Amino acid sequence: MGDSSSWASRVSARSGNRGAVAERLGSPVPYREGPLSYQPAVMCHCRMKASRWISWSEDNPGRRYYRYSRARVRFRLLNSVILSAGDCGFYEWVDDEHSTFLKDLLLDLRDAVWSLRKENNELKMVAGTHDGCNWEMKKQMERVERENMELKQALKTKEEKMEEKCRYWLLGEMEMEGAVQ
Ligand SMILES: [Zn+2]
Repeated sequence: MGDSSSWASRVSARSGNRGAVAERLGSPVPYREGPLSYQPAVMCHCRMKASRWISWSEDNPGRRYYRYSRARVRFRLLNSVILSAGDCGFYEWVDDEHSTFLKDLLLDLRDAVWSLRKENNELKMVAGTHDGCNWEMKKQMERVERENMELKQALKTKEEKMEEKCRYWLLGEMEMEGAVQ
């Protein structure tokens, strides 16, 4: 079916930057079925059922491929990655290559989804930061209100003591005046 001999060299010719972006943003569309739900099974070099994924690489957007099922890195990222230990490296295309028009269309759709997703993540992060701010402000308000209450209480106690002192003092004055008379 596929030509697994030349894919590594073809893919390694591409720069690694886009792969990192792809890893973060993931498939632009959800999978309709799990990578191992397909039939009939295609076996990899170690006689295990291979996973079926959809490529979103620049060269092969929307093209399905089989891959060794325990591979940590999927095909679209293999440009800059060395196969991890135990990876038999099995890889085979499911679909024929799409037309240039379809490829461009799929890449445009992919990029549109990714940029919206990125924007959405950034907005969520900003919103999260504001939540943090609000929480911090609420805590501070509570603290200030508590301090205010304590100050009011202290002031009241002081006033009461002053009043008492004044009363005694006035009383003393009056007594003195009385003594003079
Ligand atoms: Zn294998």
